[in-house]
Amino acid sequence: MRKNIVAGNWKMNTTVPEGVELAKAVNEAVKNEQLKCDVILGVPFTHLTAVKQVIDINKVGLAAENCADHNSGAYTGEVSAPMVASTGANYVILGHSERRGYYNESNQMLKTKVDLALEAGLKVIFCCGESLEEREAGKVQDVIKQEISESLFHLSNEQWANIVIAYEPIWAIGTGKTATSDQAQEVHAFIRKLIAERFGDELASNTTILYGGSCKPSNAKELFAKPDIDGGLIGGASLKAQDFMGIVTAF
Ligand code: PEP
Repeated sequence: MRKNIVAGNWKMNTTVPEGVELAKAVNEAVKNEQLKCDVILGVPFTHLTAVKQVIDINKVGLAAENCADHNSGAYTGEVSAPMVASTGANYVILGHSERRGYYNESNQMLKTKVDLALEAGLKVIFCCGESLEEREAGKVQDVIKQEISESLFHLSNEQWANIVIAYEPIWAIGTGKTATSDQAQEVHAFIRKLIAERFGDELASNTTILYGGSCKPSNAKELFAKPDIDGGLIGGASLKAQDFMGIVTAF
């Protein structure tokens, strides 16, 4: 049975003290709840160690938002997967459209990052998604297939068990424009079919596929009710504990 997950992506927001307060509030809110999903906080590198200290890692997972495509060495300013793992984080978000777009992360580079993250013992939340231009040109499936296959389809079945997919249409991220639940379901079903073709039906059925893009308490329930939508990757609404919990409890 696949897991439902709601993961926050704080992006480049909050100072360390602010992030610690937010993490404490989420941890407090989930502590005594019997939730129907796993909860993960994706936080800036600078926050990982401090946030790890205020969460119960058995209840709240911890993700970095990126890692380097090298393990160590003369790469000033970079943070490697083993460094992330050494903070106690158990996940890393890779392939976010902001990283692909602003920092030119290619499918090939992401393939390397995925390998290093898995080697370091991290689970990977791998993002994919089309731009509005690509959607309007009827290229959604081509884009998704290329992103997923070029960065992930070299993995073994054992490795695949540590991959979570996040479908994030770029036009819906931070814009207030959510994909309709039918639009999202259509792409999620396509992703699951792709996975089944490569890794078989059982692994495909066990893969968690998250939706991301202006997900909020008011639309989470409808999105999560779809058969292939197993939770959300949440940007803006993860910055307020109450909004984030409104999405967590939509399951
Ligand atoms: C994201 O950036 O991963 C995201 C889904 O952002 P938002 O929820 O703000 O659209």
